[in-house]
Amino acid sequence: MSDCLFCKIINKTIPAEVVYEDEQVVAFLDINPVNPGHTLVVPKEHKEFFWELGANSCGPVSLVIQKIMNVLVHDLGYEGVNLIQNNGPASGQVIPHVHFHVIPRKSGDGHAHWRGAAYEAGEQAMMAEKIKAVLKF
Ligand code: AMP
Ligand code: ZN
Repeated sequence: MSDCLFCKIINKTIPAEVVYEDEQVVAFLDINPVNPGHTLVVPKEHKEFFWELGANSCGPVSLVIQKIMNVLVHDLGYEGVNLIQNNGPASGQVIPHVHFHVIPRKSGDGHAHWRGAAYEAGEQAMMAEKIKAVLKF
């Protein structure tokens, strides 16, 4: 995709701090990190949403995410990591090319967790039924 920012990084037409690259995957530092080392793991295949991504990319992307997490926690001294992947503007996706945020965390770093709210009576079971009724493998 010629007008996609992350495809331009993949094609090296714009610069990025790349920390890892192979046939299927590139990983580079987010320009506006939650904490230093916040890394974006990106399949080279241009797809907008995670559910569109081919099996050829899913496996390699997972392995790279694990390796980056390991480095952040075991080599760089972070205490934890968030893995965040946004799909669609309603979720906060700004760049329409699948990417995983690997976010290094320290307790008290000020990054807020999401707000949760309890189900109404019966709602949880109803939602589970709705999902199971259409879920296919
Ligand atoms: P999302 O909201 O999930 O689409 O996240 C997009 C992320 O891309 C944001 O965290 C941005 O800071 C990051 N970003 C945007 N442009 C660049 C760039 N040129 N290099 C590295 N990260 C970028
Ligand atoms: Zn792209």
